[in-house]
Amino acid sequence: MIPTVKELLHSDKEGQPVTVKGWVRTKRQTKSAIFLEINDGSCMANIQCVFDQDKLADPAFAPEFERTTTGASVAVEGVLVASPGSGQKLEVKASGLRVIGEAPVDSYPLQKKAHSLEFLREIAHLRPRTNTFGAVARVRNRMAFAVHQFFQERGFDYVHTPLITASDAEGAGAMFQVTTLDLARIASEGKVDYDADFFGKPAFLTVSGQLNVETYCQALNRVYTFGPTFRAENSNTTRHLSEFWMIEPEVAFAELEDDIALARDFILHLVKTALADCAEDLAFFDARVQPGLIDDLTKVANGSFSRMTYTEAVAELEKHKGVFEFDPYWGCDLQSEHEKFLTEKVVGGPLVVTDYPKDIKAFYMKQNDDGKTVAAMDVLVPRFGEIIGGSEREWRLDLLQKRIAELGLKEENYRWYLDLRRFGSTPHAGFGLGFERLLLYVTGMTNIRDVIPFPRAPRQADF
Ligand code: ATP
Ligand code: MN
Repeated sequence: MIPTVKELLHSDKEGQPVTVKGWVRTKRQTKSAIFLEINDGSCMANIQCVFDQDKLADPAFAPEFERTTTGASVAVEGVLVASPGSGQKLEVKASGLRVIGEAPVDSYPLQKKAHSLEFLREIAHLRPRTNTFGAVARVRNRMAFAVHQFFQERGFDYVHTPLITASDAEGAGAMFQVTTLDLARIASEGKVDYDADFFGKPAFLTVSGQLNVETYCQALNRVYTFGPTFRAENSNTTRHLSEFWMIEPEVAFAELEDDIALARDFILHLVKTALADCAEDLAFFDARVQPGLIDDLTKVANGSFSRMTYTEAVAELEKHKGVFEFDPYWGCDLQSEHEKFLTEKVVGGPLVVTDYPKDIKAFYMKQNDDGKTVAAMDVLVPRFGEIIGGSEREWRLDLLQKRIAELGLKEENYRWYLDLRRFGSTPHAGFGLGFERLLLYVTGMTNIRDVIPFPRAPRQADF
């Protein structure tokens, strides 16, 4: 492998011969020199390759130069030298140029001008070659690694929970059905024989790994899962995907306060890592996408999270009736507009809201003594609201059975889940962080479809 542009720009190879391979961003000519800006995605910066103008008289060079257009892949031979120009420390004093793959000007969609994010979504296979999507991809990669680092350093074991589930137990949202049945035949025969289906019963793509990860929590103590989840909710928003990645830690012998502390430490770790290790990309987002981003993240990294109960949050919101599309009342599910108002206008930063009404939360959350609320916590952040949803789990068998019955769920569907309460039950707590929501947070991008390589959303599954 030849060194990447990032390696070259940070190397001490000054004065040495080098080969650069990458994609041409721009080419420009002055009276005395020819400049090629080459990018290979290893970092935001291009490497500048400078040829003498009289190279054009070279019969081997001229035709290659002609074919060197924006987007073409090329190999440049030269010597790494200190750059006399401003903007870069090192550049290549180039002597050889070879086009590897052409990118014809009249058909290559990414020309030098700025393209809209909407347009780029239609060419999701080429958009990683832009500054914005290159930066998103690098930050995404670093954050994924940071997730594992955070948990591994704290003694958590990574558990792979299944993507296909036949237990129909989560109830966290609309599910995609997985079947090998012939839909056309069902349509003509008018009946479904699940016994003939692949699993012998209805099966779905998972909406959360939590119930499964709880089983390993009740054996290994500290665990987490990090994988794709699927939700068939028909919500065409800038915060929802049909396929997204979720990180779900689960801790035994832990209560709500432990859960909140873990969630805060986790977000702080991710934000600090982004600031330290993705500085060049964050500087780009700060300049081009979300002015003030770095200041905001730095404040978060050095500050504390505000706290409020749901009841206090609703009381706060009720003071501002009329500014919302949906007026809040005790018992309502907080809308994104409410969440944004609380974080942006009321506390001005991340906010942990606790003790939600049990009727708007999942059946497995631990019931509080007031009989009305559960030991739940959501972490809300400016710009889009919920980034984490978590809770202490109901670990008392009788109360969990009662709740399952109250909600009209079938106890037999929760047999194995209830076993965790029958045998060696412990208080335990966990949460789910939507990985793409985290990326919206640290990059300042505004549409969740732009922080995942290939977004899946209603009526959108191309590429
Ligand atoms: P919201 O109210 O924002 O729709 P939720 O309460 O349905 O989210 P949870 O079931 O609590 O979400 O899921 C845990 C986390 O997963 C959320 O805090 C969020 O970060 C993320 N998340 C949930 N749904 C989606 C989605 N459709 N696309 C991307 N991320 C999501
Ligand atoms: Mn939630």
